[in-house]
Amino acid sequence: MPRSCLVLFSGGLDSILACKVLQEQGIVVRGLKFISPFFSYDLIDDQRQRSYKEKIFQKYGIPVEVVDITPEYLKMVVAPKHGYGRYANPCVDCKILMVKKAVSLLDEFGASFVATGEVLGQRPMSQRRDTLRIIERDSGADGILLRPLSAKLLKETKPEIAGVVDRSRLLAITGRSRKEQIRLSRHFGITDYPAPAGGCVLADPILSKRFRKIFSLWPDFDAADCILAQTGRHFLMPGGSWLVVGRNKAENEAMETLLKDGDILLKARTCPGPLCILRRYKKGGDLVYSARICARYAKVSQLPVEIEARYKDGTICKKVQVQDIPDDRQIQGLMF
Ligand code: SF4
Repeated sequence: MPRSCLVLFSGGLDSILACKVLQEQGIVVRGLKFISPFFSYDLIDDQRQRSYKEKIFQKYGIPVEVVDITPEYLKMVVAPKHGYGRYANPCVDCKILMVKKAVSLLDEFGASFVATGEVLGQRPMSQRRDTLRIIERDSGADGILLRPLSAKLLKETKPEIAGVVDRSRLLAITGRSRKEQIRLSRHFGITDYPAPAGGCVLADPILSKRFRKIFSLWPDFDAADCILAQTGRHFLMPGGSWLVVGRNKAENEAMETLLKDGDILLKARTCPGPLCILRRYKKGGDLVYSARICARYAKVSQLPVEIEARYKDGTICKKVQVQDIPDDRQIQGLMF
């Protein structure tokens, strides 16, 4: 059994400590940083990925691989077997998926087991004793899933039994207190680490509602839809298309980069105003209504205002002369 493992690496303190505890025993550790449109998706960019890996290695001495799990994640997130947490966060199935993926990568990296920074009893849903066991079982990681921070409170794993990992040098952390983690971080000289549990938009109270709506309205949703859902004001138009209106300069700038084939970009021509994306437009009145909503958020000094609608390749789709602007009550009924 090689003295080498793959560690689920969120970048939070617990995952860093799990790596350090194992490294201290001389075990070769490689962190797996999973990305999906719901977390850490900025690392889809090669350049950012490179600098992230460099930063983590320089700071903590942990080599990290970035693994994109978008296709399997999008399938899972619509109907997670173990349900959602408080919002749209399918934490148990998310962990199962990540561990399963790590198990599938063991041979490629010459590793013999998987480790995580999970702490027994720290989270109500995903870190209970029975849930930790379910994650191990359903991910196909029976006996090869080690939680170094709580290992002494859990059943012995194969690497411990085989003497690859020294159980006596693992920990028995439990519960929500961070005291022991703070002590350990001092021990390892770690002073700079992100706050726990940040960064997953599925656990965001507002965005999670929007995601659930998208999952049910458009079962063929894709990564680009999940990214678009995180920017701007959103409207479900009477004809079934999806309008997104930029709320500020940064979002308006992002709009052009978020366009995909088939989208229509709307913008006021005769006054300053937001950029808007109309997605899933087929035909009917949604385009004109969207132009009216676009005008509602523009700095209109006098009517009519001309709203230009164009496709991603820049060709003009339509120019709409907006004569009347919908009132707030009409608009709010469409928002999601
Ligand atoms: S908060 Fe998000 S990333 Fe974290 S376990 Fe839950 S679903 Fe997965």
